[in-house]
Amino acid sequence: MSTTTEIIELSERRSAHNYHPLPVVVREARGAWVTDVEGRRYLDCLAGYSSLNFGHGNPAILKAAQEQLQRVTLTSRAFFHDRFAAFCEGLADLCGKDMVLPMNTGAEAVETAIKVARKWGYEVKGVTPDRADIIVMADNFHGRTTTIVSFSTDPDARDGFGPATPGFTIVEYGSAEAIREAITPDTVAVLLEPIQGEAGVLVPPAGYLRQVREICTENNVLLVADEIQSGLGRTGETFACEHEGVVPDMYVLGKALGGGVVPVSAVVADADVLGVIKPGQHGSTFGGNPLACAVGGAVIELLKSGEYQARARELGAVLHERLRALIGPAGEGGHGVVAVRGRGLWAGVDIDPSIATGRQVCEALMRHGVLAKDTHGSTIRLAPPLVVSEEDLNWAVDRLAEVLSEL
Ligand code: PLP
Repeated sequence: MSTTTEIIELSERRSAHNYHPLPVVVREARGAWVTDVEGRRYLDCLAGYSSLNFGHGNPAILKAAQEQLQRVTLTSRAFFHDRFAAFCEGLADLCGKDMVLPMNTGAEAVETAIKVARKWGYEVKGVTPDRADIIVMADNFHGRTTTIVSFSTDPDARDGFGPATPGFTIVEYGSAEAIREAITPDTVAVLLEPIQGEAGVLVPPAGYLRQVREICTENNVLLVADEIQSGLGRTGETFACEHEGVVPDMYVLGKALGGGVVPVSAVVADADVLGVIKPGQHGSTFGGNPLACAVGGAVIELLKSGEYQARARELGAVLHERLRALIGPAGEGGHGVVAVRGRGLWAGVDIDPSIATGRQVCEALMRHGVLAKDTHGSTIRLAPPLVVSEEDLNWAVDRLAEVLSEL
């Protein structure tokens, strides 16, 4: 069994249909390129939803993983292991914070941040027991657990999975005033994505994050930044919050922290926040395991050089300039692109829905050797590994222009 058709047919029969993948079966990958089972090559412009910021098979990450695989991969947190302290210190320093609580997936890290914020609310802020409230944003995406989908505004994510977990107030994204108005004495945190990824790479208005920071400080409310997709170099800075000089109280990290090799996530904060968690109150069998710490440590080293952030900045400027040139009605100088948003090597491209759906464009791109994924009907997001070459990036935009002109 080896053909694309056979593998897809078996996958469809024997796995739950919780995704709608493009019909491509990847067999191997290096850098920004993947190869399918028939030997066709594609430029990966999704990069595992930004998990592959440092490229497929990044040599430094693979070396760290391979060395660790030979020594010890799992201890559980019942014991210490020799990779743990250095990873936690490295990540805390990268964030300018005191300490780290390592987990595995992004959703787990968000759940962790919610628990920490609630406990901080009761023990430090003095909120009445079981009354803690967290302000979250419309159109958010923070993962798929029952609590997280409880405050999703996407019916597909939420409906049918109730009863919803209480304790969340949803406000409009991009309006600092909406947050100010929603704050009550029970508010313990504001949880947001500095750029909303799954919503279509929505960049909030300039000054928004700074205003939210001020509102949180004034009201003794924790600012929790979910930088799972926006962080670790993607936008041209280590963290998207940096574009506004904002430091949140808690960073929630994941995806690229695992170098595209293993799931590694973490909550990073100062001791007055993360210190509320005591032995027995939270944990994960795999969180902070030796392999995860070795890989995460290699990722932190790559970020320390600033090279990847610089690439995202410089190539991001090229990407956005080229994409903006596609804006305008098809045939009248434009290519049927309605809007382009994003920052660094991360773009949401809205296609005129009367021309094609995002899915149709992504299928056509696939046939032209570019892998990208649609979101919310007519938006395509582009987020290639930060190791992509300028030539390859230009080639991908040429393919998009070609696909749009053929529609
Ligand atoms: N938070 C954000 C901003 C994300 O983009 C995602 C995944 O796309 C998550 C959380 C959930 O991460 P995971 O799929 O690893 O649970």
